[in-house]
Amino acid sequence: MSSREPLYEGKAKIIFKGPEDGTLFQYFKDDATAFNAQKKAVLEGKGVLNNRISEFVMENLGRMGIPTHFIKRLNMREQLLREVEIIPLEVVVRNVAAGSIAKRFGLTEGDPLPRSIVEFYYKNDALEDPMVAEEHITAFNWATTQDMDEMIAMALRVNDYLSGMFMAVGIRLIDFKLEFGRVYDQNDMPRVILADEISPDSCRLWDAHTNEKLDKDRFRRDLGNVTEAYAEVARRLGIMKENGSVTEEGSPE
Ligand code: UDP
Repeated sequence: MSSREPLYEGKAKIIFKGPEDGTLFQYFKDDATAFNAQKKAVLEGKGVLNNRISEFVMENLGRMGIPTHFIKRLNMREQLLREVEIIPLEVVVRNVAAGSIAKRFGLTEGDPLPRSIVEFYYKNDALEDPMVAEEHITAFNWATTQDMDEMIAMALRVNDYLSGMFMAVGIRLIDFKLEFGRVYDQNDMPRVILADEISPDSCRLWDAHTNEKLDKDRFRRDLGNVTEAYAEVARRLGIMKENGSVTEEGSPE
């Protein structure tokens, strides 16, 4: 790993200062945590897979006109990013009942929701990321009403795109989490763009035929074969060679 001074070390990634002002390096670790970091493990190769899967998803979203912080992948574990002012919210989109919504409302896991539901959580480990309403978000100045409208609109576009992309390779997108950041354009006007990562760490992905879990729930629920499941997602998306390895070189310029 690089000897550079980290700006921020999270549970699964490290952020370093980038080569130019307004850029960052994002390094994907093999560390896995769940239940607010009470459960921890090192899953060899997870970081490499998430780097590649997130690159693939962010590039495709960029092509669809969704602005993201992703600039390019540099190597097996690192990406070059545009620096953003992170909005301290986790935006969760759900299509099918699972995880906390199933528990909160007594729903059966796997039951389709009447429509896609967007939820907001306040990013704060000490408080265990509490769910929040627009009232809290605007009152505490985490985001404006306009930021929220933009995040909801982008989250639903991401959901439509990803649902189709995964369904085409036999995977059902159950739910996922997004993070957004603010950037300032030449005229100093703030704009919200997609940030962080999109990978099996941040999505629930079930095989469309067998309902086998191909995501971080394999770790949370001790189902085993976690990295194998992530590799299966990469393989189906066509970003992993049939021999099981991911390509070594950086993404083309
Ligand atoms: N999620 C995430 N980070 C978090 C919390 C949730 O990436 O800190 C993702 C999770 O992987 C799932 C979705 O957001 O795809 C909804 O998670 P949920 O609220 O059901 O919580 P969980 O059951 O994961 O605790």
